[in-house]
Amino acid sequence: MTTAPQDPVSLWDKTAPPAPDAPALCGDVTCDVAIVGGGFTGLSAALHLAEGGAKVTVLEATKIGYGGSGRNAGLVNQGLWYHPGEVVDVLGREAGERLNEAYAFGPKLVFELIERHGIECEVAHNGTLYLAPNEAHVAKLAKRAAAMNERGAKVEMLDRDATVARTGTEAYCGALFDPEAGTINPMGYVRGLARAAIAAGVKVHAESPATSVKPDGSRWVVSTPGGKVTADRLILATNAYTGDLWPGLKLEIYPLYYFQFATKPLGENLRRTILPGREGAWDSRDAMRSFRLDEAGRLIVGGVGSIPDNKDTFRKRWAEHSIAQLFPHVGPVEWDSRWMGEIAFTPDHVPHLRELAPGVLTCIGYNGRGIGPGSVMGRAMARNILSDGKEDLPLNLSPPRPLSFRGVRSRFINVGAGIFQIGQILRLG
Ligand SMILES: Cc1cc2nc3c(=O)[nH]c(=O)nc-3n(C[C@H](O)[C@H](O)[C@H](O)COP(=O)(O)OP(=O)(O)OC[C@H]3O[C@@H](n4cnc5c(N)ncnc54)[C@H](O)[C@@H]3O)c2cc1C
Repeated sequence: MTTAPQDPVSLWDKTAPPAPDAPALCGDVTCDVAIVGGGFTGLSAALHLAEGGAKVTVLEATKIGYGGSGRNAGLVNQGLWYHPGEVVDVLGREAGERLNEAYAFGPKLVFELIERHGIECEVAHNGTLYLAPNEAHVAKLAKRAAAMNERGAKVEMLDRDATVARTGTEAYCGALFDPEAGTINPMGYVRGLARAAIAAGVKVHAESPATSVKPDGSRWVVSTPGGKVTADRLILATNAYTGDLWPGLKLEIYPLYYFQFATKPLGENLRRTILPGREGAWDSRDAMRSFRLDEAGRLIVGGVGSIPDNKDTFRKRWAEHSIAQLFPHVGPVEWDSRWMGEIAFTPDHVPHLRELAPGVLTCIGYNGRGIGPGSVMGRAMARNILSDGKEDLPLNLSPPRPLSFRGVRSRFINVGAGIFQIGQILRLG
């Protein structure tokens, strides 16, 4: 499931409105802030910086949304992988609650940006369902719901009957319903952010990989094959797709793979039997599974992990099994698209906000929740720069912390998830 740069990186790449013009950088330019990475984080930062009066250049190696932003499941959720109480355990009360508050605002910010900039991205602001496969998971989700509601959220636990009615499957015992969440076409959203940023004066350059970053006095020079950008400040917004541009940065995270399969559009009658309220859904297993419909009625299922499977034989079998198990009445399906993306995980399950050197910021490791968080963190870095460091960030800046046994950890989790899925196919779960 490898993707050449000119190929669609996902279903969303084919169905979203086209990307705005973003010609490769040609020549040398000077600006206030250079941003490397054309996903939610980089483009939210760019848009908010430009709205605050800064001169901004964005460099994207391939195309807008090439990374997780154009490949994800499109579930716009609040919060982190950990629930708010666990975040406080990891970060301490003050820092934990500051991050909880910022992340609770994620969906609101995303839907506001979509509305303000007229972004076409199949918005369904109908909530999401976090599904429990057994009673132990119901108890786990109830704790999460309580921790969220103590902090002002309005989530609700659904019993088995309500869960079956909302999803159309009998596979789950209960669910946490978040009415403030929703689904989007994520490539539509990231392209819309790029369009809004360009309209605000940002120069966005696709096919412009940053190949080196060097200090020049108090400024930074970012080189690409076609030219250089010299800027006072630099944001690295490369997340899971971080390469070797900044030595050691990729050692902060370990990659987890997530694959998705989309059917051809289902008939009107079948569509009405699956998630009739058009929520997005995923389950609380470690080897999680997600499912949702897109606007055309394609059923999209996704699973975590990666085992060697060049021809997608195993993954396709798992996707077929998932649909047969969840929605047996659908029968055999024809596939429209399949794709894969990398998720940046951190060992403490919170993102890392770093000042890599004076004037260089990065936020890395959204742990599979990046639509709201990337938009929030991009805006927060922009405001911090515009206020010359006076505006607080949602997380304390801390020095880089390289991760030990990164490759072993990644392989263990990815292969472990694959083995679990083989068990599911064999009808053990
Ligand atoms: C399959 C999948 C499913 C997911 N599902 C969800 C979901 O349902 N909900 C949710 O909230 N989150 C989800 N996520 C997570 C979310 O998509 C990411 O956290 C988010 O997209 C991160 O955005 P970003 O802008 O920080 O990074 P990215 O979108 O990954 O962008 C980084 C960009 O940097 C570019 N780049 C890298 N190196 C260079 C360089 N040297 N020069 C120039 N450019 C460079 C890359 O080409 C890439 O476009 C999912 C992720 C994946 C992969």
